[in-house]
Amino acid sequence: MQKPKLSMYWAASCGGCEISLVNLHEKILEVDQHFDFFFCPCLLDTKKEDVEALPDGALAITFFNGAIRTAENREMARLMRAKSQLLIAFGACASQGSIPALSNLHTREAHLRTNYLDSPSLDNPAGTLPELRTAMPEGELKLPEFFETVQSLAQVVAVDYFIPGCPPEPHQIWNVVEAVVQGAPLPPKGSVLGGGVSSVCAECGREKNNKRITAFHRTYEILADPRMCLLEQGLVCMGIATRDGCGALCPQVNMPCTGCYGPPEGVADQGARLIDALGSVLDLGDYKGVTERQVAEKTDAAMAGLADPAGVLYRYSLSGATWGSK
Ligand code: SF4
Repeated sequence: MQKPKLSMYWAASCGGCEISLVNLHEKILEVDQHFDFFFCPCLLDTKKEDVEALPDGALAITFFNGAIRTAENREMARLMRAKSQLLIAFGACASQGSIPALSNLHTREAHLRTNYLDSPSLDNPAGTLPELRTAMPEGELKLPEFFETVQSLAQVVAVDYFIPGCPPEPHQIWNVVEAVVQGAPLPPKGSVLGGGVSSVCAECGREKNNKRITAFHRTYEILADPRMCLLEQGLVCMGIATRDGCGALCPQVNMPCTGCYGPPEGVADQGARLIDALGSVLDLGDYKGVTERQVAEKTDAAMAGLADPAGVLYRYSLSGATWGSK
């Protein structure tokens, strides 16, 4: 009997998602037992043409990781969509743009200038920039278009499910694979699989005492108390603005949650959710007799301690947060 076909594709990503799949350890043998692992450019030698030759819907599941940065990423997203019964946005980059989408804070032209003209380690006296087409004696060289902005997978094609995480936790990947193998009913299309419906704070064992803080710290500046809530110690922990499901792994090792599971269920804007929480922990002193301008100055002074606000608050969710889709 033919096994259902499984594929995994990477677009603009770092490769960590593929490693998380391999981190299934011995369970990867069960994946092999139930699926024909058909296409995965970093692990297998099947080619794009092999996928193109399949009838539409021939792939049972495609885990698509990475954001959409180039025309090639978009072309592959459309191809995998057509050939897959279930297209799953796998990991933070495919789900919400993640680190690649932070480049949306700058223009395409600025990226090219920094990388090809201004970087101190460059040797490019002629100021050569990449071109879509370059005529060479051997023939024409082609590069995919580098888009002005990075999009999430769902901003380009219809996505059936989302598995959050940077990268997703192996036990959660396995839960999804197992549900499909057992023919268990899946939640409505568009749902997040493998994550919880609350926040990381709900599964974090640290003591919370509603303590107010007067300043933010970076992780190297203080030795955090290993029992107390990190946010209450002035470390910007994204736990309250992040979907649970990882087991609060980072706070367990005295590091603030950076938000890789995206916003909790029902929250559209992860950064705004954290700003809201910061407002409740920040102690700006007594407001009596203080003018509005003085309050604004105090707030600005306190917030100045939050280094790289966009990179902290929207590290994983800039595509989703700015364009309103998952
Ligand atoms: Fe734990 Fe961070 Fe939430 Fe505090 S803010 S309870 S450290 S996850």
